[in-house]
Amino acid sequence: MYNPRMSDHSILPTPESILKGVFGHDGFRPLQREIIEGVLAGRDTLAVMPTGGGKSLCYQVPALVFPGMTVVVSPLIALMQDQVTALLARGVSAAFLNSTLEKDEYFGTVDRIRAGGIKLLYLAPESLANERTRELLAETRIDCLTIDEAHCISEWGHDFRPEYRTLAEIREIAPKAVCLALTATATKQVRSDIKKTLRLADPAEFVASFNRKNIYLSVEKKHNPVHRILGFLAERPGESGIVYCFSRKQVDDLASELASGGHAALPYHAGLSDETRAANQERFLRGEAKVMVATVAFGMGIDKADVRFVIHYDLPKGPEQYYQEIGRAGRDGRPAIALLLYGYGDTRKIRFFMEEMSAREARKAEDRLAAMTAYAESRTCRRAALLEWFGERYEPDGAAGACCDACDRPAAAETDVTVPAQKLLSCVLRTGERYGLAYVVDVLTGSRQKRVVDNGHHKLTTWGIGTEYGKDDWFELGRVLVEEGYLAKSDDYGVLSLTGEAKSALAGRETISLPVTLAAEGAGGASGKPGAKSGASGKGPVGKGKAPVAAPDPSADPEGSRIFAELKRFRTALARAASVPPYVVFSDRTLEAISAAKPASPEDLLRVTGIGPSKAEKYGEYVLKAVRGEPFDE
Ligand code: ADP
Repeated sequence: MYNPRMSDHSILPTPESILKGVFGHDGFRPLQREIIEGVLAGRDTLAVMPTGGGKSLCYQVPALVFPGMTVVVSPLIALMQDQVTALLARGVSAAFLNSTLEKDEYFGTVDRIRAGGIKLLYLAPESLANERTRELLAETRIDCLTIDEAHCISEWGHDFRPEYRTLAEIREIAPKAVCLALTATATKQVRSDIKKTLRLADPAEFVASFNRKNIYLSVEKKHNPVHRILGFLAERPGESGIVYCFSRKQVDDLASELASGGHAALPYHAGLSDETRAANQERFLRGEAKVMVATVAFGMGIDKADVRFVIHYDLPKGPEQYYQEIGRAGRDGRPAIALLLYGYGDTRKIRFFMEEMSAREARKAEDRLAAMTAYAESRTCRRAALLEWFGERYEPDGAAGACCDACDRPAAAETDVTVPAQKLLSCVLRTGERYGLAYVVDVLTGSRQKRVVDNGHHKLTTWGIGTEYGKDDWFELGRVLVEEGYLAKSDDYGVLSLTGEAKSALAGRETISLPVTLAAEGAGGASGKPGAKSGASGKGPVGKGKAPVAAPDPSADPEGSRIFAELKRFRTALARAASVPPYVVFSDRTLEAISAAKPASPEDLLRVTGIGPSKAEKYGEYVLKAVRGEPFDE
């Protein structure tokens, strides 16, 4: 076990030596060093870092320097086990206390804490309500109190947890402990709530850039989504990813469609039994199931480094949620893709749930939805649109394939859309310039909804004249007509009216050319043949050409490629034998680093990024054998 007290007699461990020696990393990520130094100096700290930014090290490193214990409060019970397993594998004495523990385990852990044998203790917030736990903490030396997912404290956050409100009390139990609050999502208001509730004294505040550079952002119209996802998966055999859906039923349906399409896909939602959920999550983490089809119930705290894509089958409720969900991709720093399939109908589903909210809540929900649709509809850089929500300005650097589909799209090609534009404009006119786009599109596409019939609009000459296009196309055209000044949209209900320009366009019969791509559907609408759409929706940027390559290029480095394959086989066997996810043994990145460095001796091995002494001792012999091309017993 790693024991920093040894250092009482030798040199004190530094954050750098712990980073390399225990965690096997060569350098700190942005802000990690500043946060760690502040915490070690006893300064209360609030740090906002994106998912995957490396928050855990910010308390794990100081925990190994402090003589006493570090307590980490986290709402993610499922994650505690994984974190503790990973820490133990690195030789760090860590444990957790939560409601899932059997009595024996609980008391075993308590004894170890009393004996001073635990450096890092993970705690569920509700455990603090337990008198025995409080007594235990009161009599233990606690040097650092870390509050993970600290945004849960705030009612303004998107994930408020009432039990977090009581966390101020823990500060009274351990008044001398420095407090570190960590979160991936916090607007200004949430940050100020966190500082107040946790009574942070003159805290240092760090807000990291939210730009996850390695995640390529892309949005496509939701045409034949199942077909599109099948095509997407077919281009990426063997890659892991998550598909988020709005409803449990959608999850079940899609998971079985993907499975019958030959993909190792599993469902995950709150309606499944605990055992099924745990088993499915486990299979995904181990890489046996490649695709997790899930509701938002999946993913909090999932640290699977090699998730290569996150697809949203439905529109998320807001940018915070979206950001957090796509943040589960590419945690290993290698290229990943976030693809949102955007259908205008999705906003209706989200609004449906706003009806039950208080006016204040509904207002906040409406703001989030508006930001989300602005992202989905943006014709300029999506990264800039997303980061703006987090108060960050972003300037695209223009490198092709590096940012988003909007940046990669050739300067908007204008098409002649005179006929469909005239149809839409006249439909706005005929319905009396009193409705929003959704209603106008209903009339255009021949809806017999009660509202349309009650208004007598099914008798208009413009009723049903737009069946050659799908609703999404009409929505896009409507939006561009607003953007280009043909239609005016009222601020409150989005009522459309014709501008002077539109009137003259209608009267003068001039050509209307706009930057839209409309894909004629035929009267069948969404039932059009699968495949007919792939040209329009399968935009180049997320094609295989830009997809990440897992192994070294065999033609450039045949030896490296052989070693990589060998190590992967070895990792799978070890992970299975130890009942841990493969990344606990070695990350893909580490495998790549070994394959590239081809270490010949234990000393060489220790110089490889991702290999610390503990890993070298455990696996070094096997790794060196794999490099030399010698067989090893599984
Ligand atoms: P967060 O909690 O912010 O979502 P994690 O702490 O789980 O992020 O870190 C995400 C990933 O980044 C992990 O796989 C972790 O091992 C890796 N990581 C963190 N810090 C570093 C670093 N300094 N160098 C290399 N990898 C790092």
